[in-house]
Amino acid sequence: MAKLYFHYATMNAGKTTMLLQASYNYRERGMSTMLFVAGHYRKGDSGLISSRIGLESEAEMFRDGDDLFARVAEHHEHTSVHCVFVDEAQFLEEEQVWQLARIADRLNIPVMCYGLRTDFQGNLFSGSRALLAIADDLREVRTICRCGRKATMVVRLGSDGKVAKQGQQVAIGKDVYVSLCRRHWEEEMGRSAPDDFSVLSAPEV
Ligand SMILES: [Zn+2]
Repeated sequence: MAKLYFHYATMNAGKTTMLLQASYNYRERGMSTMLFVAGHYRKGDSGLISSRIGLESEAEMFRDGDDLFARVAEHHEHTSVHCVFVDEAQFLEEEQVWQLARIADRLNIPVMCYGLRTDFQGNLFSGSRALLAIADDLREVRTICRCGRKATMVVRLGSDGKVAKQGQQVAIGKDVYVSLCRRHWEEEMGRSAPDDFSVLSAPEV
């Protein structure tokens, strides 16, 4: 049976590059894929998924209230779909995640979702919460903090270059996101004091 996958990570971990590469692998073998990207912060009807290393592909957009099962089922009737890809899956509604599960369960098409786990305040996004709850296969896309530890959190820098501690879940504009390990995220957010001596003085076990 086909599965619902969730590849999650922080910002700048290369999720979109992975998505485009995986879709390309299907197409190279003569199979067809359907790509979706969040339309919440885009205008028009057709979207473009582009990665930092220059890959890009046309994609359909999803917005709140869209029935993704119906859209894929309709497309699948006249052109077989071999895999569905969803970028920015953190913006899915809970109901849309269930629709994606039905695409796997009832149409037998694998669905690969890529997205952020948490926002800059350390809270789950709606789509990520539902995907973590019901996806068949969870895969962490790894990236590292400035200290070399695994980065699991993200901070947002405003136009003044300072770390945002409050505000909307998504900011549009020139905000910059930086991926950090949990310890450095807490320090940057002002929740714990920097204390590098604790590492140096910790006894070796
Ligand atoms: Zn760190």
